[in-house]
Amino acid sequence: MTTSVSASSSATAHHSLAGHEVVLLLETDPHDGLTSQQVTERLTRFGPNALPASKGAGLLLRILRQFHNPLIYVLLAAGAITAGLGEYVDSAVIFGVVVINAIVGFIQESKAEAALEGLRSMVRTRARVVRDGHEQTVPSDGLVPGDLVLLDAGDKVPADLRLIRLAELRVNESALTGESVPVAKDEVVLPEPIPVADRRNMAYSGTLVTTGSGAGIVIASGAETELGEIHRLVGAAETLATPLTQKLAGFSKILTIAILALAAATFGVGLLRDQDPVETFTAAIALAVGAIPEGLPAAVTITLAIGVARMARRRAVIRRLPAVETLGSTTVICSDKTGTLTENQMTVRTVWTSAGPYEVTGSGYSPEGTLHDNTGTPVSAGTEQALLWSLLVGAACNDAALTEQDTRWMIVGDPTEGAMLVVAAKAGLNSDRVTGLLPRLATIPFSSERRYMATLHRDTTADTAPDNIAGHPAAHVVLVKGAVERVLDLCSAQMSADGTLRPLDRIAVLRAADDLAGQGLRVLATAMRPLKPGAFDPDGFGEDTLPAGMVLTGLQAMLDPPRAAATSAVSACRTAGIAVKMITGDHAATATAIAGRIGLLDQPQHGNGCDRGMVLTGTDLAALTAEEFPEAVDRAAVFARVSPEQKLRLVEALQARGHVVAMTGDGVNDAPALRQAGIGVAMGESGTEVAKDAADMVLTDDDFATIEAAVEEGRGVFDNLTKFITWTLPTNIGEGLVILAAIMAGAALPILPTQILWINMTTAVALGLMLAFEPKEAGIMTRRPRDPDQPLLTRALMLRIMLVSGLLVAGSWWLFEWELAHGASLAEARTAAMNVFVVVEAFYLFSCRSLTRSAWRIGIFSNRWVIAGVTVQAIGQLAITYLPAMNTVFGTAPIGWGAWLRILAIAVAASLVVAADKWWRSTLDQT
Ligand code: ATP
Repeated sequence: MTTSVSASSSATAHHSLAGHEVVLLLETDPHDGLTSQQVTERLTRFGPNALPASKGAGLLLRILRQFHNPLIYVLLAAGAITAGLGEYVDSAVIFGVVVINAIVGFIQESKAEAALEGLRSMVRTRARVVRDGHEQTVPSDGLVPGDLVLLDAGDKVPADLRLIRLAELRVNESALTGESVPVAKDEVVLPEPIPVADRRNMAYSGTLVTTGSGAGIVIASGAETELGEIHRLVGAAETLATPLTQKLAGFSKILTIAILALAAATFGVGLLRDQDPVETFTAAIALAVGAIPEGLPAAVTITLAIGVARMARRRAVIRRLPAVETLGSTTVICSDKTGTLTENQMTVRTVWTSAGPYEVTGSGYSPEGTLHDNTGTPVSAGTEQALLWSLLVGAACNDAALTEQDTRWMIVGDPTEGAMLVVAAKAGLNSDRVTGLLPRLATIPFSSERRYMATLHRDTTADTAPDNIAGHPAAHVVLVKGAVERVLDLCSAQMSADGTLRPLDRIAVLRAADDLAGQGLRVLATAMRPLKPGAFDPDGFGEDTLPAGMVLTGLQAMLDPPRAAATSAVSACRTAGIAVKMITGDHAATATAIAGRIGLLDQPQHGNGCDRGMVLTGTDLAALTAEEFPEAVDRAAVFARVSPEQKLRLVEALQARGHVVAMTGDGVNDAPALRQAGIGVAMGESGTEVAKDAADMVLTDDDFATIEAAVEEGRGVFDNLTKFITWTLPTNIGEGLVILAAIMAGAALPILPTQILWINMTTAVALGLMLAFEPKEAGIMTRRPRDPDQPLLTRALMLRIMLVSGLLVAGSWWLFEWELAHGASLAEARTAAMNVFVVVEAFYLFSCRSLTRSAWRIGIFSNRWVIAGVTVQAIGQLAITYLPAMNTVFGTAPIGWGAWLRILAIAVAASLVVAADKWWRSTLDQT
């Protein structure tokens, strides 16, 4: 059957139709959704629910953008003037270089953009839909018009929807309207001409659900959505700018001015000395051309892009490029506990009731295992009433589902709830039985702020529940499970083994809970309250109307083992001078026990010097004065029972203490803290779309160790950038100085502008770029984090750059003069001088592979890229020296063996000097 369904939101004003009309129009079902057959048909007809790849700026514009750089302006002017002077070959070479530079830049930029785009698809958005009457999770690009989509807090709306059911649904529509205050939605029919921002009965693709839940019918997908429309108009252009590239752009401007001034001065000096104006001018151009580091911007982008790819391989997906740089400077990592430092695989180990503790056997989510009392006797749910009701509450006040797939038991939903289903099943209370006994009427969902979940049920347990529970047999029963203190606050009594009520012994319950939490177990309390017929209106069930005087039935304590790699990652961070802090909504005792197990408490925290990190709770934090707050936060290693709002304050306080903070988060309310942190880290598996949207980095495996790996890669990226700059600048400075010296001395130029361009372009690509592939140095995680304000080049490196520049000038000048004095032609002497530059730079490249260790210690052949690059460069040098065509273009001439030996001798001598400098520096650092 083909449908008359239209996929465009603009064709029909769906907001002005009633929900059932939209259902009819789109030939769907408001409860069962589409059938699989309809989905397949519509997918072929409307295509995937994805925005077409952004074309960004036009091709021509993007190529032209490559010329928009002050350094390139200078080159263009030089080329034009050279042509004006009749030096057509030189002019052609200059223009050639500019064009090659633009092409390389363009290709690299496109590749980097494509890489970032590719990363984005690694974090795929999923959507919950109802199809064929079953709820399922599907990739959001599989949605079609007519699909029935379910929304929950934290979701990104996957397509344009006409809402048909909702509960307190609020949506942040800033992606569409720019308005960041969440908009309350409802189902009412609206008049036709009404702006998008006021269409309260619609939820638009790309917007974020901040609270509540709802269901809607897809009325437009992919490019037909409102977001698709905007995308078409704007063409989202990705910016590749980072603080570093911006700094470099600034540096380029200053450099250009300096180079121009120097070139002008050179020209002036030449004229004053009555030198030939044309020759002097050519020299001034040579100076300008030589001193410009053309390859620098491309090298920086490539190094960053390679870093991003390496991080992705280690399961850290970078969403914003500046994060690559910031990672290397991270001084504090604030991590969630559940799921990041722990496995988030919960198993109830103990159920405690007023009759005592019951131990639970079995592992994982398989419902095989038994409960037994402290004499070791197996018990069933019917053994005692408090146990029965604790298990019933755990299983009925629960949104998870336990399923068996290919003989493996799995949980759909929250693992905490999954564990409670499993323990109930172990005692013979499977979900079907529980739902049969207690059909659910209403829900107050769990939230991290509330820390409990409550449900209202019709009570059919009168037969199982003894009459002596107040109010039984009852029409309704309220069930609550959640954090112990929160549930205790709602209780006034507790259930005995025989089901009778007795006054609540708060202290005894808290002691039992502390004991369990001290073993690293997550403890939840369960409570119930029967309601007499007519005593309660099920429609009015909400947080404010929750009846007082609940009856505590018991505690359930579950094990969530620390992740295997967490301990070693925490210790690696410590060695790297990075403090790790746990921020959790869990109980302080549970958090402390887990923190102790992974070595979090042993690390000296910043700002103190004491050996054990403190444990602070949300209440402790609230009691601190504004003055005490930052210092206390700096000293603590564990923050327990912290609310998401407090996370933002924690980040701000740490930043005020000068820290670069990486902060993890997964919920809707974590978004402000993630945005504030230097590196906001979201969870790829369990995190909400809102959190991912706010984050700089997404962990596809949710594992803490991945953050540590990303920091390591971040440091590597910075190292490689530093290495490239340390390697490339001497060439530019050396070339500039050689020309300057020649003019000052009134001598012939030892190298020509075209030769300089050859050196700069070929060595940057064949030699310098290979440093971007340099593996990380061995001790990279034993250093302290890089100070973000610290300049890229330390004093020692600046001195090394000057040293190598000096060696290049001395070596090339000496050889140029020597060759001339021994009968070589000017072209031959220049060819020898040019080769000095290239060969010294090639030798120096090996030294630059490590900033501190000698080339021998890291192994000459350990980076195959470098070897390949040197080989290519060598072939290039032979070509420019011996090929007649290239001789004509570049003004070179073939040289003999003797000259090559002298060049090699200079390169070896220069390498020895650099090695001595390195050795001397490292001994200096050690003393
Ligand atoms: P983090 O991931 O930051 O370590 P968390 O998962 O430990 O956080 P929350 O999920 O906010 O923290 O849980 C806080 C407390 O709320 C838990 O210690 C537990 O007592 C209670 N709780 C957790 N999940 C549920 C749930 N599904 N229903 C009822 N109560 C819950």
